[in-house]
Amino acid sequence: MKGICILGATGSIGVSTLDVVARHPARYRVVALTANRQVERLAEQCARHRPDYAVMADPDAATRLADILRETAPDTRVLAGVEGLCEVVALDTVDAVMAAIVGAAGLAPTIAAARAGKRILLANKEALVMSGKLFMAEIRTSGAELLPIDSEHNAIFQCMPADFQRGLEAVGVEQILLTASGGPFRDMPVERMQGVTPEEACAHPNWSMGRKISVDSATMMNKGLEVIEAAWLFNTSHERIEVVLHPQSIIHSLVRYIDGSVLAQMGRPDMRTPIAHALAWPERIAAGVEPLDLFAVARLDFEKPDLARFPCLRLAFEAAKVGGSASTVLNAANEVAVDYFLNGHIAFTSIAPVIEEVLGRVAVSELTTLEQVMETDARARDEARHVIDRCYRKVV
Ligand code: NAD
Ligand code: MG
Repeated sequence: MKGICILGATGSIGVSTLDVVARHPARYRVVALTANRQVERLAEQCARHRPDYAVMADPDAATRLADILRETAPDTRVLAGVEGLCEVVALDTVDAVMAAIVGAAGLAPTIAAARAGKRILLANKEALVMSGKLFMAEIRTSGAELLPIDSEHNAIFQCMPADFQRGLEAVGVEQILLTASGGPFRDMPVERMQGVTPEEACAHPNWSMGRKISVDSATMMNKGLEVIEAAWLFNTSHERIEVVLHPQSIIHSLVRYIDGSVLAQMGRPDMRTPIAHALAWPERIAAGVEPLDLFAVARLDFEKPDLARFPCLRLAFEAAKVGGSASTVLNAANEVAVDYFLNGHIAFTSIAPVIEEVLGRVAVSELTTLEQVMETDARARDEARHVIDRCYRKVV
């Protein structure tokens, strides 16, 4: 029996993870579930999966959860705050931690899981984008296992030779081809993008996901973050990574070898596939996913992304090139801009200019401690709010 802790259990990835885990009761036991403020949803999950621990990041929500669980799951202990999140990931009874909190809030508990030497199933790409160097160093020091959940990175992992950590050149890999659907606005006339609503931005054509990553997919910042994520995970440079628009989302990414071979991983766009893969690796388990019907798919298309339509993708490549704190700033400014867009305070087309201005205002440095990463993140958020208030806030 493997003990599982799910950070962000109430989110899109968290719910899919519980779905896969519940299909294999002889193999997995839910040890801890966590969420931010969704008390009712976490309470239902606790009543069903009976974890030893439940953590709410928000202390008031933790009090409300404890009141409910006294009746419905009296054996589940309730903890609160970041301290509670960092405590449960390190429990002796936890073998694998699903890191599925959205955004920078996931960094501290994911690093705690790395320090505790656990198997980390990484969905929270923002943690790696913010602090790749530190994060990978923690993994190496503790001997923790890092397995990618992001569908593209999981696909690349499946197409890589087992010893890829020796360096891509050494194992004969020339290029990583990262596929992207292009999101809901791939074909929209650029002049219409100014007025799109949060609901339109969150209506992804192929994937059902949380709101923040849905907006990131619409701006293609998601792909930019994924380029940086891939460079850290596969110990390579952004120069070896090419983004390929593939509207059907059937090929989840490809690896091109020196001999001309190109390996692709295909499947239905259902996150339960990468989740099951990483949970059971190196074995395979059923994920509840319908078989891929190639006759129904019929054709696969590929295009080059248009960086004028998707300036966020250009900004991410630029930040990857600069290195150091640039991707920490990129990520923080993006989180603030997306939050303002989702709350109706800025236009969709203001997201990229806000990030670009913030990148120009925060000096680049090398970040060698977690404290420095958090300071840079906070500084970039302040700058983003300032830039928005000065130039981009909608007048209502
Ligand atoms: P979501 O918004 O559906 O869920 C987020 C989860 O994080 C919720 O459980 C929420 O309670 C928790 N959370 C939010 N803020 C928190 C805080 N401050 N402290 C503690 N917990 C907090 O998001 P999602 O779509 O499940 O995405 C989660 C992560 O996985 C993101 O980093 C995303 O980029 C990545 N990812 C998601 C998908 C997908 O298909 N949804 C695919 C690839 C990668
Ligand atoms: Mg992805």
